[in-house]
Amino acid sequence: MREDALTSNSTTSQVPVGLLTCQHTPYLRQFNTTVLSCSKKPNKQKLYEVQLQDTILFPEGGGQPCDFGTINENIEVKNVQRVGTSHVHHTTAPIEEGIEARLEVDWKRRFDHMQQHSGQHLVSALFEQPEYGCDTLAWGMNATRCHVELSKAPTPEQVQEVEERLNLYIRRNYPVHVTFTEERPATLPKDYVGPNGVFRVIEIMEDLDVIASEQDPLNTNPSEKKRGLVRLDYNPCCGTHVKSLKDLQCIKLLHQEKIRGNNCRLFFVCGQRALDLLQESYQVTKDLAPVLSAPGGPETYVDTIVKNQKAARETVKQVKNLLKEIAAYQVRDWASELKEKNPIASQEDGKTTSAPYLVKYHRDDVDMDFLGVITALLKDNDLIQGQRIFILSAGDKKEGGPMIIVGQSDEAVKKIATEVTKLIDIKGGGKGRWQGKSKSWQGLDSAWAAAEALVHAE
Ligand SMILES: [Zn+2]
Repeated sequence: MREDALTSNSTTSQVPVGLLTCQHTPYLRQFNTTVLSCSKKPNKQKLYEVQLQDTILFPEGGGQPCDFGTINENIEVKNVQRVGTSHVHHTTAPIEEGIEARLEVDWKRRFDHMQQHSGQHLVSALFEQPEYGCDTLAWGMNATRCHVELSKAPTPEQVQEVEERLNLYIRRNYPVHVTFTEERPATLPKDYVGPNGVFRVIEIMEDLDVIASEQDPLNTNPSEKKRGLVRLDYNPCCGTHVKSLKDLQCIKLLHQEKIRGNNCRLFFVCGQRALDLLQESYQVTKDLAPVLSAPGGPETYVDTIVKNQKAARETVKQVKNLLKEIAAYQVRDWASELKEKNPIASQEDGKTTSAPYLVKYHRDDVDMDFLGVITALLKDNDLIQGQRIFILSAGDKKEGGPMIIVGQSDEAVKKIATEVTKLIDIKGGGKGRWQGKSKSWQGLDSAWAAAEALVHAE
């Protein structure tokens, strides 16, 4: 059906969505039309709702965000919405009804949407080919990336092959056609009736003559008859599209995400977004050179990181060994201190005992592993005897850390732990050996003093 046959003759009624100038002439950036109505008051978003006779600003739909633009240079259009087959422009100021409005579209935003949306049609068309069998169930775009939801995940080899084909078709500059159908597509929103019951269809055509001239550059087998176009994609769509694939510039397929059963989300970028992404990645790579101390540039990054990781692993090993030695020295010091100040005496029943004694220890640059090593050494050296209690903690004053309280008597350990939890923000438990983790070491001094008083009160 010819488009002009569908156009309304009335100058006072709105051109319906489906026949808008932005849809049949998407490359038009400036356009004059008539203001049909304007709301008296602004809406919740503080914008006026304006009905224009026709528009070059696309109303949001089919996964494509709405256009931005201006009316008569200084009134900004911040939103365009479809209501059934009519369209409403949301503007920053009211406009007089009946006057002529000069529209200008934010072309950078619009062209980006055209590239991504037409690119999506091409990406979906290729993955739907029988050799891949990945149907598109949904698509979406945000400010920097687009994605298609596919019925199954393509293999890495298939993704690479499809990307090569996508960019080959762009180089071949296949045409993109807009046609109409009277058959209502099942995917359309219910309130979209189609102007006069007619629906827009986007077709991407494969140009057989371009392929033939690639295969036979010398034209040794000239054919009078044109081979013509065959349909690559046929999809109902209200969006704005590029007129031929060269305007996509390029398509880069990105990563996949698994969702809902076997479905997968495949991310991609088209045209300028691919260049923007390349610039961003290039900048990050460049900025990494001084951070990694790799003046040789990106080619040396992997070697540098492998070398740095190896050095870091060796340092960790060294620190572990040194801490073990420190723990051993510490326990040796305690052994001689306890031998002198808290001797163990044998009782008549064969058991041993000692006077009450508290050993307090805190080190802020170690962790639970270190306290574990100390506790093991205390056992190995048979220092946990009599009425001795060890209260050991680790970690930064502000960030807190682990604590171990150990002694021969469960009851004595429990008593001290109860007192400690009153003075420090700490949670823990355990029999014989009480273990906890604090949120800070504020109150440690008072906890030590309280523990000291408790031990000697025995
Ligand atoms: Zn579409």
